[in-house]
Amino acid sequence: MTDLTPLTFVATSDLTGLTKGRVVPTDSMSTGTTTGWVPANFGIGVDGHIVEDIPFDSSGDLRLLPDPEAIHQIRGVPGKPDLSVAIANVVHTDGSPWSCCTRTILRGVVDSLREEFGLSSEVAFEHEFFDRDGDTPHHPFSWRNFRAAEPIGSHLVTAVQDSGLQLENWLPEYGIHQFEVVIERADPVTAADRALLLRDLVRDVFAAFERRASFTPMLAPGETGAGVHVHFSLQAADGSNPLFDADRPGRLSELGGRFAAGILKYAPSLAAIFAPLAISYDRLKPHNWSAAGVFLGVENREALLRICPTIEIDGQDPEPQLHFEFRAADVGANPWLLLAVVLRAGLQGLRENLEPAEVVVGEPQRDQITALPGNLTDALAAFEQDPAMRSWLGDDLVDTYLAVKRVELATTSELSEQEQCDWYADIY
Ligand code: GLU
Ligand code: MG
Repeated sequence: MTDLTPLTFVATSDLTGLTKGRVVPTDSMSTGTTTGWVPANFGIGVDGHIVEDIPFDSSGDLRLLPDPEAIHQIRGVPGKPDLSVAIANVVHTDGSPWSCCTRTILRGVVDSLREEFGLSSEVAFEHEFFDRDGDTPHHPFSWRNFRAAEPIGSHLVTAVQDSGLQLENWLPEYGIHQFEVVIERADPVTAADRALLLRDLVRDVFAAFERRASFTPMLAPGETGAGVHVHFSLQAADGSNPLFDADRPGRLSELGGRFAAGILKYAPSLAAIFAPLAISYDRLKPHNWSAAGVFLGVENREALLRICPTIEIDGQDPEPQLHFEFRAADVGANPWLLLAVVLRAGLQGLRENLEPAEVVVGEPQRDQITALPGNLTDALAAFEQDPAMRSWLGDDLVDTYLAVKRVELATTSELSEQEQCDWYADIY
């Protein structure tokens, strides 16, 4: 490899969804080089402390094993040296996978989809965030807002491209000093790797201009939220789109309907994973264009799961384009774990051969759709009570998750709504 940067950040993530890791000199790295990690690190909560009552204590050792396919060169952050980032899987000291490695869990789901149903998936993340130090007059989607963020925006676009993260879009969003970055689709593990890197890259580029970028779902109570929207497709082994059937409602195939049914069925139990912050539930309300209920909607931006439009200008073929968007997630979710549970729930819909989900065209009848939990307390209870969660994720992950999140709830319950928003904005 040419132009190696002197340092390599060996990266993982934990239940906070923040990028964690250790730095090693790049010239000491070769294939199979690992660096140390500690099981109890997984029990570090949002407030930065290892919580009590987790299955890990001061003993035990793990290794971060870089994935040779996931070495990234982060370039173009003004005032910071370029950096190699080696995304790692967490393994035991004998190299066997650690049961709480969320990246390995996602890889397992991807493998099961392929082995059992011959399916693969491509995923594109859309990230919304706020410039907390923006102070110019605002109008949604405006040239003015785009220009107000210059030259940061241009630096960001260049850094995203030069770092190989493949930008699709950079836009001024609806909310006050809110922006969005969309990156191109990739296989699920790569897409989640890039989601993690993108967040830190955005924060870094804004920080270079002494501005604070935050992906927090709510910057102030009742204001516009910021989501992490996950677009995903399915492909059959022959390259065709198994989601597409021109003759069915929403042009969604029977298989697509069963996959969606799995996601809807398990959504209330999974809310603790995809909407994992005390303030996440302020965002998941009607009229926020987030996900106000558990339904599958055609081109509806308040659906938990949206069948996205196809572009047919100049006779473009809709068949390869039809895909889903999962709209309920936010930055609190570790992207590997988020994708793992969404795809796992869809896979479960196929395994259980569920009735295809109803395709809602237009507005749903609110009294006929399942609600998401109304707050994190209820979401954790639903997560804890569903035995499927333990079988999908393992006892250690579930027990650690519950402990970490309940400590977080105890902390946030002492804070006003605005203080909660500020607390999360500093972290995310
Ligand atoms: N800001 C909305 C959310 O919280 C999404 C708006 C959009 O459709 O881009 O998810
Ligand atoms: Mg948006």
